[in-house]
Amino acid sequence: MLEALKEEVCAQNHELPANGLVVGSGGNVSGRDAATGLVVIKPSGVKFAKLTPETMVVVDLDGNVVEGKMKPSVDTGIHLFVYRHRADVLGITHTHSPYASSFAARGERIPAVLTPITHILGRDVPCSRYATPGEVDTGQAIIDAADGGWAVLVKAHGVFTMGKSASEATSIAMYLEEAAMTTHLALTRGPIKELPQEEIDRCYSWFRENYGQTGQKKINS
Ligand SMILES: [Zn+2]
Repeated sequence: MLEALKEEVCAQNHELPANGLVVGSGGNVSGRDAATGLVVIKPSGVKFAKLTPETMVVVDLDGNVVEGKMKPSVDTGIHLFVYRHRADVLGITHTHSPYASSFAARGERIPAVLTPITHILGRDVPCSRYATPGEVDTGQAIIDAADGGWAVLVKAHGVFTMGKSASEATSIAMYLEEAAMTTHLALTRGPIKELPQEEIDRCYSWFRENYGQTGQKKINS
C-alpha cells in the first residue's frame, strides 16, 4: 500500500545524510497520505544506507502499525501529534543539523536576515520552550512555537520542518540549515539588522508567484 509515498519518504530520508543534516541513524522524515490519513515514516534505529521503500513503516494517526515489519521511528508520536493538530501538514522532517541546532541549544530563534529562507518561510525561525523528549510535550511545543508556520527549533533539541509533502519539508530543512550557517557566520562579525516584516511579506508573495515551473504567475508572459 501507499507505494509512491513510501518511495518518496524513503528518498527524502536519504537526502538527510546526503546533505550533511544527520549522523548515524538520527533524524527522520515522514509523509501523510491525504486520502487515507495514513502516515509513512522511517523505521527506528536503521542506518540511512539500509533504508528502502519496503522498510518504511505505515502507521495510523493513533500510532498503530498498519503495514511494515519494523518498529517505526522513536519520534513517530511527535510526528503524529503534529499531523493531528495541523491538517495542512503532509510531510515532516526532523534533524539535529548543527548550525540550526546551535541556535536551539541557546534557546534562540534564527532571525529573518536572509531572503532565501524568508522567501520560503515568510518569517524568522522560532525556537520553542524546552520540552521533554516524547510525543505530547515536544509535539505541543512544536505546535505552539510554529504558530501555523513551517519550521521550528525545539529548544535544546533540534529542527522540525513541515510541508505540503515530505519532499517540501526536507527541502525546507536543507535551506534552513544553510541559512542558519550563514546567519551564524554573519553574527560572528557583529549584530545584524532583521529584514522588515513588510519586505519579508513582499518577498514571500513574489516567490510563491514566480518560483519553479508551477508558480502561479509566469515570468515574461
Ligand atoms: Zn531528535
